[in-house]
Amino acid sequence: MIDYSVKPKAVTPDDALLRLKEGNFRFINNMLQHKDLLTSVDQTKDGQTPYAAIFSCMDSRTSAELVFDQGVGDIFSIRIAGNVITDGVLGSLEYATAVAGASLILVMGHTNCGAIKGACDHVKAGHLSSLLERIDPALERATALFPDKATSANSDFVAAVTKFNIEHAMSEILNRSDMIRDLIDKKKVAIAPAVYDVATGKVNFNSFD
Ligand SMILES: [Zn+2]
Repeated sequence: MIDYSVKPKAVTPDDALLRLKEGNFRFINNMLQHKDLLTSVDQTKDGQTPYAAIFSCMDSRTSAELVFDQGVGDIFSIRIAGNVITDGVLGSLEYATAVAGASLILVMGHTNCGAIKGACDHVKAGHLSSLLERIDPALERATALFPDKATSANSDFVAAVTKFNIEHAMSEILNRSDMIRDLIDKKKVAIAPAVYDVATGKVNFNSFD
């Protein structure tokens, strides 16, 4: 029987965001704290209390535990090409927050994303087609800004699609998950956007200001 009541959290949403910012600072400054992962394996053998859920792309360069310098058991990492929302993603985020007690959802896109570029060029291939179609709402918004240059060759257009795709994912989470919206209304959980730069390793938390 799953207990859906939210457990008391040691980490507030603000502190969770701060931990991630500090972790990325360590990552880009080569000051990694989490080198002895076997210690955290031992500390978490009887259970997990991750403080945040990072929802991001599957890109091999954007592993959340690495770019935020986190150990075993610190964060949930939910990943899918193009960080698009599916029912499975929503269920995973609901588990992370309502069941396991994570106090922050970070929706993280990244620069030079193959899925975003594929959507920009309307790639059709197997199951990728239906996955990339989930980027269409962002594509339409960005195309309105760059009607004559709406291709992956236009880096400004790709950046706009990336940003709008993150915003769309955030609104999907809020509109489709009563559980998460309720937790956010009660200020037990926060949701925040971010863009990871594959050229520098830096996570930009401020690109939506
Ligand atoms: Zn990607």
